[in-house]
Amino acid sequence: MANLTLDGVTKWFDDDGDRIVAVDDVHVDIEDGEFLVLVGPSGCGKSTTLRMIAGLETVSQGDVRLGDRVINDQPPTVRDIAMVFQSYALYPHMTVQENMSFGLEESTGLSDDTIARRVEETAEMMGIDDLLDRKPGELSGGQQQRVALGRAIVRDPDVFLMDEPLSNLDAKLRSQMRTELQRLQEDLGVTTVYVTHDQTEAMTMGDRIAILNDGKLQQVATPIEAYHRPANLFVAGFIGEPSMNFFEMEREGDVLVGDDFEYSLTAETLDEIGDTERVTLGIRPEDVELVSGGEGAHEFRTVVDVVEPMGNENNVYLRFDAGGDDPQMTGDERTFVATVGGLQSIEDGQEVAARIPESAIHLFDTETGLALR
Ligand code: ATP
Repeated sequence: MANLTLDGVTKWFDDDGDRIVAVDDVHVDIEDGEFLVLVGPSGCGKSTTLRMIAGLETVSQGDVRLGDRVINDQPPTVRDIAMVFQSYALYPHMTVQENMSFGLEESTGLSDDTIARRVEETAEMMGIDDLLDRKPGELSGGQQQRVALGRAIVRDPDVFLMDEPLSNLDAKLRSQMRTELQRLQEDLGVTTVYVTHDQTEAMTMGDRIAILNDGKLQQVATPIEAYHRPANLFVAGFIGEPSMNFFEMEREGDVLVGDDFEYSLTAETLDEIGDTERVTLGIRPEDVELVSGGEGAHEFRTVVDVVEPMGNENNVYLRFDAGGDDPQMTGDERTFVATVGGLQSIEDGQEVAARIPESAIHLFDTETGLALR
């Protein structure tokens, strides 16, 4: 079994006597064969976490376990973990064949013949078998990426660690490799931790995603769960493009009162809020409906600020219409965004009504950021 456990894993760096906590008490249990994507903004501690699992960085506190073994103090070479880097890290003076087989004999004790056969099989699987005699400088970025992956696969490790492995590829190749990598991981069934700051990769590739911010784990969930039931404001704002719209509101009886609008709540929703007074209301852009009228429940008069055509759909940036006396935007007025079908003809400056259905709203405690529903 190669389930990988991070148990209170913490990393601090010393910066002239100041302690920088890069990873803060992270707990996560990654199942045997699971594809876990570690995602978060730049500097949140993703690479440091991965490097601790690989043994390239010491663990300040907590345990990294592979199966039942604590591997904190094991050197990287005996961990049975293969890492793929963003930079590919291929040896420039070696051929593809040599890059893939380098060090295998020492670490596995396999014979030269067996290694050569394994390299050939893997190269075939990765579609690079006709490149075995070339050096990295004679390969395209995509081919180098395949070699780097092939080199990890040929080791037949318990765990793959991947640090933004697709970020140097152009958009088309990246999306192709995304699918390929996912299929490969599924076929090989090797426990994988994949680091990215790209939420499309996170949403499409992972069995589960672990969202980090400021060194702290925010939520571990399937992509669908994280999208539909974000644990807090950070996850809600991080996952989804365009981002969820947020409105800070004060509770007054059974109504939420904000700067731009008031929003009445049913008894059921009020129950979920409990006695929280400062509530942030969130709504995904695709859940905002543009309707005619504007007088119904949870409907608001708005003016179109900008329409961003996306082809199959439009992102319509709206601002609340205080009374229609000044159609000019001042530029600093708050807008929110609705994503609607591309066939609806909507123009800048147009007055429209937006409906924010109660069934689709997310509610958060403004002070703690935690989800209330
Ligand atoms: P990115 O997506 O930009 O690569 P990341 O999420 O991988 O970011 P890390 O590289 O893990 O983030 O860094 C986490 C934090 O730890 C950052 O604030 C970084 O400046 C700090 N850090 C990383 N390595 C060191 C080091 N050797 N000494 C001091 N601080 C460090």
